[in-house]
Amino acid sequence: MTGIVYKSTGSWYTVKTELGASYQCRMKGKFRIKGIKSTNPIAVGDVVDFELETNNDETTGVIHHIKDRKNYIVRKSVNLSKQTHVIAANVDVVFLLVTIDNPPTFTSFIDRFLVTAEAYSVPTVLLFNKIDTYDEDTLNEVRYLAHVYRKIGYECIGISAATGKNIDKVKSLMKDKVCMFAGHSGVGKSTLVNAIEPTLDLKTKEISMQHMQGQHTTTFAEMFDLEFGAKIIDTPGIKGFGVVDMDKEEVGDYFPEFFELKQHCKFNNCIHVDEPKCAVKEALENDEIAYSRYRSYLQILEGEDESYRTDNYSKE
Ligand code: GDP
Ligand code: ZN
Repeated sequence: MTGIVYKSTGSWYTVKTELGASYQCRMKGKFRIKGIKSTNPIAVGDVVDFELETNNDETTGVIHHIKDRKNYIVRKSVNLSKQTHVIAANVDVVFLLVTIDNPPTFTSFIDRFLVTAEAYSVPTVLLFNKIDTYDEDTLNEVRYLAHVYRKIGYECIGISAATGKNIDKVKSLMKDKVCMFAGHSGVGKSTLVNAIEPTLDLKTKEISMQHMQGQHTTTFAEMFDLEFGAKIIDTPGIKGFGVVDMDKEEVGDYFPEFFELKQHCKFNNCIHVDEPKCAVKEALENDEIAYSRYRSYLQILEGEDESYRTDNYSKE
């Protein structure tokens, strides 16, 4: 039988088949997934093959195969230094909620998030929430940012989770997909999920870091079916993606507009900083690349993205 992992709590996995039957499954032996040192070999969103077995009238499943993942999101374990925890696999789309104020979402955060999502091959849509509260100046800021990000290929929608504005558009992008919601605390993730499916009560509230440090990996993601045919992966306690380690030469490849120009740089290993005849810097001077994007790029290159790290891993 084949199914999707909806929940994992240590050694048991809730697996749901296409026909909608759920089984409690465990894993046969030990799996190793090449390339990642992870604390959990099977994650929510994985497609697995399993066999049923009955003991004392109780039917459970034994997972014997994990299908190749199209992508996965990891988080570094709090305690086990080099280990990673796979939060979710096979994510079709992540919606990043952005608010201009209350709370502010800075472009450095957006860009870092997008770079990580690109590195994970997870498509991202930007949702500018709380537009019902904005004055004309703030709305212009939203329009400007939406222009910047649309131009480089990201879908952008202005929404209000409170009034329901453009929620139908979000739903149509979610249909038949495995979705996740991300963004700073207070941007409206819970409110939006409620607007989308009022009967669903997600634990989107972050758990406190104090609680988290007591255990290796406390955050158990869970997948939910929505009535209109979408799936949501809820990740309590996780506000952003983990930081992906990447080489300096690699960073520009995750800025789509830089990547496109790279072939025109004089040096094929150009990192677009001090090199002569750099197509990226020329585009920046001609206003074809947003300065905020280039600034974020430099910050990531120099490892000066501490605000992002802090936001991901500490306090609330
Ligand atoms: P979360 O931390 O991302 O889950 O954010 P919440 O959903 O808890 O929202 C934080 C606060 O913002 C709550 O007081 C919500 O009522 C409010 N809020 C969320 N979305 C909107 C919106 O579109 N418009 C307005 N006016 N308030 C919103
Ligand atoms: Zn260059």
